[in-house]
Amino acid sequence: MIKRVKLSKTNCWLLSLSNGYLLIDTGYEQDRAVFFKLLAKQGVKPEEIRFLFLTHHHDDHSGLINDLASIDPEIRLIMHAESVELLKGGVNTRDYGGVWCNKRMKKAAEFYRKINKSWGLSFQPYIIRENDIVLTEGDCDLENITGRKLRSVYSPGHTTDSISLLDEDMNLFCGDAASDFLRILGTSYTPPFITDLSQFYVTWQKIIDSGVKKLYPAHGNPFDISKIKKNINRLSPDKTGEFVWD
Ligand SMILES: [Zn+2]
Repeated sequence: MIKRVKLSKTNCWLLSLSNGYLLIDTGYEQDRAVFFKLLAKQGVKPEEIRFLFLTHHHDDHSGLINDLASIDPEIRLIMHAESVELLKGGVNTRDYGGVWCNKRMKKAAEFYRKINKSWGLSFQPYIIRENDIVLTEGDCDLENITGRKLRSVYSPGHTTDSISLLDEDMNLFCGDAASDFLRILGTSYTPPFITDLSQFYVTWQKIIDSGVKKLYPAHGNPFDISKIKKNINRLSPDKTGEFVWD
């Protein structure tokens, strides 16, 4: 069974294992109280979480890593190799560029930032620990590690360190490799921010080709693969919004 912990902006998904749970992503640091409250509501104790699968380093996914690691030092992070340095840095990287997915999103995000001064795109740095699992190949069989038929799928485009998790029913927990967030602004199932749009759609093609049936995004509700098939290449590079963050 798939359990959902729905935070202010981020969905954290919980998959059951024979000896506990695998958690996909955490929310913002500010979501701490609600995260632990909702976890309890799902009947899950923090120390039952054996693995934390981090889809990428962004603040709305990595905010509570240190909290979970201090509650249960045995918890093992699963992350892409690129995440290691980025998590140390404690900020959403801009080293690889990036754009707002369209001009309407740029306007909306800039307005939102004006009225939300605390929106800093930063998080508590995390230094990887001995038992963490660093995936140098993004596509990796995780059955040996987790005891369940799970696979990681390298999914760059939103960020360079993006990975998704595929389960045995062809559900893909995709982080921000696809999104059902603010579609009213014309996002067409992309997230607001994209590092490399053409790479992003290469990842979508890979997702389609791999036979995924349903996507479980970090933002918004799960949706069918048909949405991805219908919207691939819908956004174009000349219509994206310049990302300025002073
Ligand atoms: Zn992100």
